[in-house]
Amino acid sequence: MSEALFEPAAFRTALREWLDANDLTPPPGDDSLDAHQQQHLRVLKALYDADWMRYGWPESAGGLGGPDILRAIVGEEVVGRGLDHPGPYSMLDVLTPTMIDYARPELAAEMVPRLLSGQESWCQGFSEPGAGSDLASLTTCAEQRGDQWVVNGQKVWTSFAQYATRCILLTRTGGPDTPNHEAITAFFVDLDSPGVTVRPLRTMHDVDEFCEVYFDDVAVPGDRMLGNVGDGWQLAMDLLPYERSTCFWQRIAYLYARFDTLINEVKGLGTASDSDLGEAYLALHTLRCRSRATQHRLAGGQKLGADTSIDKVLLAGAEQRLFDTVRDLLPGHIELTDDFWRTDYLYSRAASIYGGTAEVQRNIIARRLLDLGKE
Ligand SMILES: Cc1cc2nc3c(=O)[nH]c(=O)nc-3n(C[C@H](O)[C@H](O)[C@H](O)COP(=O)(O)OP(=O)(O)OC[C@H]3O[C@@H](n4cnc5c(N)ncnc54)[C@H](O)[C@@H]3O)c2cc1C
Repeated sequence: MSEALFEPAAFRTALREWLDANDLTPPPGDDSLDAHQQQHLRVLKALYDADWMRYGWPESAGGLGGPDILRAIVGEEVVGRGLDHPGPYSMLDVLTPTMIDYARPELAAEMVPRLLSGQESWCQGFSEPGAGSDLASLTTCAEQRGDQWVVNGQKVWTSFAQYATRCILLTRTGGPDTPNHEAITAFFVDLDSPGVTVRPLRTMHDVDEFCEVYFDDVAVPGDRMLGNVGDGWQLAMDLLPYERSTCFWQRIAYLYARFDTLINEVKGLGTASDSDLGEAYLALHTLRCRSRATQHRLAGGQKLGADTSIDKVLLAGAEQRLFDTVRDLLPGHIELTDDFWRTDYLYSRAASIYGGTAEVQRNIIARRLLDLGKE
């Protein structure tokens, strides 16, 4: 370990040199989700073996310490160069802080290195068919039997569950008299446990990116509880700010790379007006400035909260603006071809849904940040 690398600019330079010298370019010809997942694990393994994935994570969980900003730099460089896709990579930024904060220290020390080194993937089991925006109404239940908890219920829209070894799962443990927000408990569940069924769901961009996950009398050891009984709502409130902000830093690098590709494609076509591209760039740049400030607040030790709903609204707006611009400037590409622009355009529609819908984020901004009351 080199403490000299704790300085962000030196870290970025050294990482860039390493990436230039160690070719992790994805093999050409296969753009399937299976291929993306294989590449994701390959890149993580190489980066972990060379220590890059360990910077910015605490030593208690297999990291090398240093400021949180270092891990943002790794994500930005890796995804911005097209070595990994932003979707699978973002799971690290969302799930790892929660494991570190809520798992028993021995469990975090055992499991976090497996995720960061690409030995395994995890998923986030929050949403249910009847509980998305209104997450507190979830019904998947866990009942204590001796040293174990027995889980029954169904989750849905669980991203990458078909590749996941384990799941951070929200369950209801309280009875009818327990207030909703004290009735939820989180577990770290092995997805190869008897009684778990994972069924991939096809998205409109034609990829099985998320899944239904069924739990049928699934026994979970008591020491896999994250926090204590009734801490699940607080865990969700602590996890969602990561899902609405820091995990976008590397996604933004991906969007900037796409913006550059767009500029190259429209050069010479004569279809571009400066204002089309300017609007897309302005939206991207605004998002990046906001996201940078959030990264620095996190690195400065501040706890992220409701203010990350602003990052989430800006992300959805910028991503959709960018691919609307592609639709306008490259006529027919999105409607008539199967190329990556079509995939990106369709997936950009999900940006105002995942991690909490745009309407719900605006409600949070109005009520909790602007104190505008309920209506
Ligand atoms: C690509 C993708 C990946 C996802 N990955 C995961 C994952 O890994 N794990 C996971 O747990 N979940 C995941 N989700 C689920 C996601 O969190 C939910 O889709 C989201 O929270 C919305 O819930 P819902 O789909 O049940 O819609 P609903 O909550 O039923 O909302 C339907 C509509 O009603 C609106 N609405 C609802 N309540 C209000 C309100 N109070 N005020 C105003 N409007 C309202 C919403 O904005 C929306 O337009 C993913 C979703 C997508 C699209």
